Amino acid sequence: MNLLGNFINGVATPTQSSRYSAVFNPATGECTSQVSLSTAQETRDVVTIAAAAFDSWQHVTPLNRARVMFRFKALVEEHVDELAQLITLEHGKVLSDAKGELTRGIEVIEFACGIPHLLKGEHSLNVGRGVDSFSLMQPLGVCAGIAPFNFPVMVPMWMFPIAITCGNTFIMKPSEKDPSVIMRIAELLKQAGLPDGVFNIVNGDKEAVDALLEDNRVHAVSFVGSTPIAEYIYATGSKHGKRVQALGGAKNHMLVMPDAQVEQVSSALMGAAYGSAGERCMAISVAVCVGNETAENLITQIKREVTEMRVGPGSGLAEEPHMGPLISQVHAEKVIGYINSGVEEGASLLIDGRGFTVKDHENGYFVGPTLFDHVKPGMRIYDEEIFGPVLCIVRVDSYQAAIELINSHEYGNGTSIFTSDGDSARQFCEQIQVGMVGVNIPIPVPMAFHSFGGWKRSVFGPLNVHGNDGVRFYTRMKTVTARWPKGEQTSGNAFAMPTMK
Ligand code: NAD
Repeated sequence: MNLLGNFINGVATPTQSSRYSAVFNPATGECTSQVSLSTAQETRDVVTIAAAAFDSWQHVTPLNRARVMFRFKALVEEHVDELAQLITLEHGKVLSDAKGELTRGIEVIEFACGIPHLLKGEHSLNVGRGVDSFSLMQPLGVCAGIAPFNFPVMVPMWMFPIAITCGNTFIMKPSEKDPSVIMRIAELLKQAGLPDGVFNIVNGDKEAVDALLEDNRVHAVSFVGSTPIAEYIYATGSKHGKRVQALGGAKNHMLVMPDAQVEQVSSALMGAAYGSAGERCMAISVAVCVGNETAENLITQIKREVTEMRVGPGSGLAEEPHMGPLISQVHAEKVIGYINSGVEEGASLLIDGRGFTVKDHENGYFVGPTLFDHVKPGMRIYDEEIFGPVLCIVRVDSYQAAIELINSHEYGNGTSIFTSDGDSARQFCEQIQVGMVGVNIPIPVPMAFHSFGGWKRSVFGPLNVHGNDGVRFYTRMKTVTARWPKGEQTSGNAFAMPTMK
């Protein structure tokens, strides 16, 4: 059995912990590894190492830090096939999707390569006579990241390339469900020339997370995961004086206007609702149709397209499936529980993904694509995040009713409108209370040089990930006001509030 420990000070290190968590291949149900669940003391020991590494890493010039990222990007690209295999093996998503995840992660590394440009700060000459003012953007120290299972590389890459290139050292706490790929990434960072101790991995669960949250040598915590844990991380980290950005769960609506092209909407929904088995925080899980005719036409088209969907293991078949299994048996049962509740609460089940099996993979955690119609607020399948291949159709009478519906939902991560009318699209962008908005784009994930984050209970903390927010999050600004000896001098004591002359 493969035993995964930690990655500390540049070395894969066995743990002293007696607690382990099993890692499975979701396509077969086979246990492939055991990952250690680090103790609080082990975690604190890693903080000591990261704090020591900060002493020198903060003084490496931004350009030389960025050069490590250039080499790291080349190495990730060189190893894309191997890394994608590792993602698919433990997460279950199909290989092309795993490669897509890597591409989105690489884009953040590319952004990090340009960080010297963003660390320049501001400068004002002569804020007073002979007095200049300028800002320094300095690293914080040790930063920590806690990641969910659904993007085992991309989400960590939202965090550490920016944190490290800004001059911080980093401790990553991956999901215990698919930790192997990030361990390989740590080796590539070392190969790229990153000094030991700058990037470390602590595998574990709540015990390790709490140790990071409570340690006052950790200055910032980035979290991505479910909303209840995001809220906990934000509250606990803030209580211990840290900066926290905590991104939570989602329920993303697509507004389908009567003037939208039904084939375009349906094919966008196939990937957005069922891609990665719906285990994406930006997946569309609700299609809000304005008018019954819009709903009927869309349903006819979705039913047609779903019959052509291939569901199966993420790798190993000559023809790649569109969708793989869910992450775990427990999660598959949870999704099936939601489908049961939808039926009990009166929604119309049009396509039933329960009892779905894949030949030669009977122990895999598969749930088939599922479609509900006549879904309403108050039903659990509408109110809660399912995180599975379940698409709900909600029918409304008007554009205004759709806006009110979407704005009333507790989550506000992503949304999109499909329409051929510029006016409706423009109004939608302005009125909708959601952080990431698509216009005829189903999954509007911002590029690395913009920032990613939702509104409402999809995010806790003022600064989102990557883009300018990411750089602000991982640096603190110091503002210097300086007068040089030959500049204008004041004489005597000044007891009044100083003002510039
Ligand atoms: P999760 O909240 O169960 O776990 C996330 C991380 O928190 C893991 O590393 C886990 O070990 C740790 N954790 C779990 N319970 C904890 C506890 N009690 N105390 C401290 N740490 C704990 O999430 P998940 O199931 O791995 O991921 C799926 C969720 O992540 C979904 O809700 C999805 O919407 C969300 N997500 C959000 C975004 C976003 O950008 N908003 C992106 C990806 C995933």
